[in-house]
Amino acid sequence: MISILILGSGSATPKVNRNPAGVLVNSNNSYFLVDCGEGTQLQLRRYKQSLQRIHQIFISHLHADHFLGLFGLLSTQSLLGREKALDVFAPKGLQEIIEVQMKITKTYWGFPLNFHDIDCKKEAVLWQDEEMEVHSIPLNHKIDCVGFSFRQKTKPRNILQSKIEFYKIPVFARRAIKNGADFTDENGRVIPNKELTTAAPRVFSFTYISDTRVLKEVPVAVLGTDLLYHEATFLSDMIERAKATHHCTAQQAAQFAALAEVKKLVLGHFSARYDELDEFIAEAKPYFANVDVAQDGQWFSTE
Ligand SMILES: [Zn+2]
Repeated sequence: MISILILGSGSATPKVNRNPAGVLVNSNNSYFLVDCGEGTQLQLRRYKQSLQRIHQIFISHLHADHFLGLFGLLSTQSLLGREKALDVFAPKGLQEIIEVQMKITKTYWGFPLNFHDIDCKKEAVLWQDEEMEVHSIPLNHKIDCVGFSFRQKTKPRNILQSKIEFYKIPVFARRAIKNGADFTDENGRVIPNKELTTAAPRVFSFTYISDTRVLKEVPVAVLGTDLLYHEATFLSDMIERAKATHHCTAQQAAQFAALAEVKKLVLGHFSARYDELDEFIAEAKPYFANVDVAQDGQWFSTE
């Protein structure tokens, strides 16, 4: 399972109940932050999430509503005694912005901070460990901008202990069986894999897309994603404004979700002009039925 906590469902102008962009992503014991609009650290505290267990931060682009909260978050992590390294993935320029602030304010963190410039023109694996892979998704915004796709890695099949004992399966043969091989015992008898193993646990994916004009083609890393967070800054009556500012409407986001064959769609990044969000659902539903709207503090899961 992958779960996400909406830290900010708003866009450039914050509202009392809608913070600028930020999503906390949880997969097993790992926590990732995607975008860090102003006040993100307060949102993490409001929703009782530890700042220190975040070790990777992914910033989609360098518009203020997506990164202004970073310096404050880093400061607090340092004040709270953080020692573990932190990786920040962002389009080129963020490191310079943060370092200017550090230099002028004579601020030094108590932990290693590693910046990684993202090439916003190509899809790439930005980061991975044994369980997860994070891909960049090039988007079409006014400045360099990427989305992120979090994909859990496929696990080997589970080999049954009772079968290991019964067939006396030696240790050296077990890895191949976990990867799907049959087993030949000492008498030459072939035991089919499905008798020896149970299926590996299901793996899930989450994709974050903000901000962009609607993508005409579905990037490979997005196809079939279990949970898609997609910006829907405007409703259809503002489609010209959406085009001019390189954003999407709810209908466009839903059409993209259908094209990408995702399982669930969550709309977010709403313009401050909207108070009620029912209309976003109404516009999206005819094109993609399993749709919801993001609200600050709300969790969504892949299952
Ligand atoms: Zn933007």
